[in-house]
Amino acid sequence: MNEELIKSALSKVVYPGFQKDIVSFGFVDKIESDGSNVKVELTITSSAKEVEEELRRGIDLELSKIGAEKVEIKINKPAIPRETSSRGKNIAPQIKNFVMVSSGKGGVGKSTTSVNLAVALAMQGKKVGLLDADVYGPNIPRMLGVEDVRPEVIGNRVKPITTHGLEMISMGSLMEKGQALLWRGSLIIKAIQQFLTDIMWSDLDVLVIDMPPGTGDAQLSLAQSVPVTAGITVTTPQTVALDDAERGLAMFQKLHIPIAGIVENMSGFICPETGKEYDIFGKGTAEELAKKFGTFVLAEIPIDPSIRVGGDNGSPVVYSNPDSEIAKRYMKAVEKLWEEIEEINKQGIVSNEAIQPTSEVSACSTSHGGHSCGCSS
Ligand code: ADP
Repeated sequence: MNEELIKSALSKVVYPGFQKDIVSFGFVDKIESDGSNVKVELTITSSAKEVEEELRRGIDLELSKIGAEKVEIKINKPAIPRETSSRGKNIAPQIKNFVMVSSGKGGVGKSTTSVNLAVALAMQGKKVGLLDADVYGPNIPRMLGVEDVRPEVIGNRVKPITTHGLEMISMGSLMEKGQALLWRGSLIIKAIQQFLTDIMWSDLDVLVIDMPPGTGDAQLSLAQSVPVTAGITVTTPQTVALDDAERGLAMFQKLHIPIAGIVENMSGFICPETGKEYDIFGKGTAEELAKKFGTFVLAEIPIDPSIRVGGDNGSPVVYSNPDSEIAKRYMKAVEKLWEEIEEINKQGIVSNEAIQPTSEVSACSTSHGGHSCGCSS
């Protein structure tokens, strides 16, 4: 049977839901014929079963009209996007998982941890975004060496900066250097929402979010805007820091955010000459806290000049020195984190339905640490 004849028959098959036929769309890849036997191969853009079935019926019908007796149809479809099990409000649905990194107070290494975990995830092949939502101290552009890079603006949306194998945006990249903003609660809420809707994030496997320290409006607003898959708290081993960390973990519980674990930062010191580990602020104290909340210590990261230098030079240690003991600890932490994310998704427990503004949660106007908190206590 003549290929042109077959093609003209196929050009009568309209693609379901459109006015155009499959030949004009360019969906037909191959036509083969042997007498009245016809083989057709096409690639379509929909993964829906109904579309495929309707196409098969249409092709069979049109080819039978030109005398084809045996028709073999092969339809290539895109892979079905992974179903996300999360429920509730999601203003950035192209992102599969959201990881909130928090700390009870500033200066414990929250941003350092967010950066190294995000880069480690990217190095392990995940499609990663890093949102520096710490509007009070947006340090991540410096930590990634893109302090002077301005993101591209398209219409009224902004393209994230790509660096170290990930996408990143920070208030520091959007503001003029040295400019200071007075962050009132309502402004923070707006900023958090715009970080999610007005930034052109790709279809990410995970967005790591470096939150402002404490438990306030930013945390509540983020949790109400997207279903957060997992929360991580960063702490140092001193008891005072642990008290803050405990508040951070309690906040995750109140916001219905599954806890992925604790990173104990500045945990001991490894002597570079001997490799011997020394306690400075102590170490291992987060373990008890983890047990109390039924979670894990994802990593104990020692005090190490390379961490600070990496942060100051814009080259995170996990990237610049991947064979170091510290890099290995970050790598192990993200392996564990990823296992947990998969388990959390499997259990289908990610939901922000219970904390939407209509619920009693938002009625709380208690002030904790200077911020009004969304908790139900
Ligand atoms: P936070 O985000 O909690 O305010 P940062 O991540 O900005 O804290 O860290 C505060 C400072 O401590 C930075 O100069 C950083 O380079 C340094 N730092 C963080 N963790 C370590 C560590 N484990 N060893 C040495 N310096 C560290």
